[in-house]
Amino acid sequence: MGKYQVAVVQNKALQQGKPEESASSAGKAEAPEKVSAQEASGAFDRNIRSQVRQVMELLGGMGRFVKPGQRVLMKPNLTGPAAWEKGVTTNPALLEALIELALEAGAAKVDVGDGTGSIHIGTRKVMERCKIADKARRLGAELLDLNVGPMELLKVENGRILESVKVNRACLEYDVVINIPVLKTHFITEVSLGMKNLKGCIPPVEKRRFHDIGVNQAVADLNRVFQTSLTVVDGIIGSEGLGPKEGKPVGMGVILAGENVLAVDMAAASIMGFEPEKIEHIRMAMEDGIGPSGIGEVEILGDSIEKVSRSFQRAVPSIPDKGQAKIHNFGACSGCIGCAAITISRLEDMGFFAEDPERRVEIVIGTRIPKDGSWRNGFFMGNCAQARAEGRRFIRGCAPSALDAANEILRCFQIEESPDV
Ligand code: SF4
Repeated sequence: MGKYQVAVVQNKALQQGKPEESASSAGKAEAPEKVSAQEASGAFDRNIRSQVRQVMELLGGMGRFVKPGQRVLMKPNLTGPAAWEKGVTTNPALLEALIELALEAGAAKVDVGDGTGSIHIGTRKVMERCKIADKARRLGAELLDLNVGPMELLKVENGRILESVKVNRACLEYDVVINIPVLKTHFITEVSLGMKNLKGCIPPVEKRRFHDIGVNQAVADLNRVFQTSLTVVDGIIGSEGLGPKEGKPVGMGVILAGENVLAVDMAAASIMGFEPEKIEHIRMAMEDGIGPSGIGEVEILGDSIEKVSRSFQRAVPSIPDKGQAKIHNFGACSGCIGCAAITISRLEDMGFFAEDPERRVEIVIGTRIPKDGSWRNGFFMGNCAQARAEGRRFIRGCAPSALDAANEILRCFQIEESPDV
């Protein structure tokens, strides 16, 4: 029997974003199309609530993690303003169910906090657009932007790459922190799960530093000094391919949970068809001893990994160099690198380069673009590049949408824009 328990529950009816059984259609001969969207979404939310309860019961109940009178912080994944159906952000109904369980367990206060990676949009707007804010307010939870406010400097003894790291003080002051990542791939860290989700607890300056010095090592170091009480992975709809924001949604209908973040990440990565010990930040955490040293030490409760697993498509691992297209990266974070790579691959898919072998596109991204650089047909992409754009072609955003970026490039080449690029 493994030392670290992880509970896994799959609801196959939730895989395609549909409820198991609509309350109004149950037992009636109504055609499904007669069920209103509101009714369907209500039934869907009820299914999620019962699935969350099952997962937590397998672990011994929420009362094992939340004691009467404690203050609880929920930390969802709010990478950007994308709907949960895209497999990018935490499902609001799952968050709501966890808040309800924490309150039932006697929590004195339950709040919701994250520091989005889309820093130019801002956490509060992302919370509104992802419908997290509505659910939180309904249950009296305060919304916290973890990108701002007092930070605590934590020393990392014998860190791989960090000597210290700043973490939002709120994350250290709550009695219980519940980490709620989404099951998805990431083109820098391969997977983005519980360990990676904690990057939302550090300020933007640290987020950039992580990308400058090496995200995998920095994430492993962060997890040595900052641990949460419980990790619940939202795999209702995950995403594969060029994550964390531009992947393809994958209906899985799975929720998994456990006390040890590394154990949960190892189980989640296995469900996605990865070998956990081959994922760099997971391997480092295994070596650092923050949890299991092998998947054999993880005990799965509920549905087996084999039963629920599916091979996720990997994220594009590196910046493409396609001859006619070039990305000049000067310290950009994953948002702009991913956006630039996706933009080029979309242009390629629509035959933009094949149509005219003379066409050249150069994309310039990052926070440290040299002043005197000159790039033929250069598109400066991302708000961090704005200061260096100096009247040249600039694509705004943090990160910009690949659709906007591809269309901007098409416009400059006097080619009709396409909503499908
Ligand atoms: S590099 Fe791009 S995505 Fe990253 S913070 Fe700057 S503008 Fe935003």
